[in-house]
Amino acid sequence: MTGWLRGDLELAVLSGHGGVSIAVLIRQARRFLLVDAGDGAARDLAALPVPVDSLEGIVVTHDHGDHAAGIPALLWWLRLGRRRDPVPLLFPAAAPLARGGVALFLEALGERARVTPELRTLAADRTERLGPFAVTPFPARHRRASSDPPGELMEAYGLRIDAPGGRIIVSGDTGPHARLEREAAAADLALVEAAAGNGPASPADSHLNRAEAERIGRLAREYRLYHGGPGPA
Ligand SMILES: [Zn+2]
Repeated sequence: MTGWLRGDLELAVLSGHGGVSIAVLIRQARRFLLVDAGDGAARDLAALPVPVDSLEGIVVTHDHGDHAAGIPALLWWLRLGRRRDPVPLLFPAAAPLARGGVALFLEALGERARVTPELRTLAADRTERLGPFAVTPFPARHRRASSDPPGELMEAYGLRIDAPGGRIIVSGDTGPHARLEREAAAADLALVEAAAGNGPASPADSHLNRAEAERIGRLAREYRLYHGGPGPA
């Protein structure tokens, strides 16, 4: 598993399988933040285990299924664990899959849902406080999947996460852009996607290839790659 640890601050890529499931867990002491909620995220949190009351929030960087399809299962896991407080769910404004997952869960279970989602909308450069984590989204450059209606860049974010012990940035799905380089340069750890593997540079402005991801990663004090590509990315 791709990971990083410095003092009380830790990052673990629970799942980095692009097109299938992305989930990244960040821990500060005994508090946790989940970045992206792909299939299997609930299984992985339960297996560690992460106590349901120690999860400060779930942030979905963009509304592709490999990042958002695990939301109903996460709510189910929180319900069975008898989560006490509302759970912050931070989604882009345009996130029908993530929001639909919440609606499906609440509609299906009604009064028996028991867990209370606290929905928040991500906005560029607006910092969200989640326990020890200060999460600041910045715009990514990510197009719709080729199977979707083609063309437009979609609403997608990278994240700057400040917590006691350091600063982590997560690139999100993105082509190369100057803001990402600036964020990486000020980070203790940059988690950078390399979804295009050894393919051509910035295909359709959607992903980074490995060389691009490594170049951006080296701007930070340390870096890790994720989201597919050959090798331990
Ligand atoms: Zn994507």
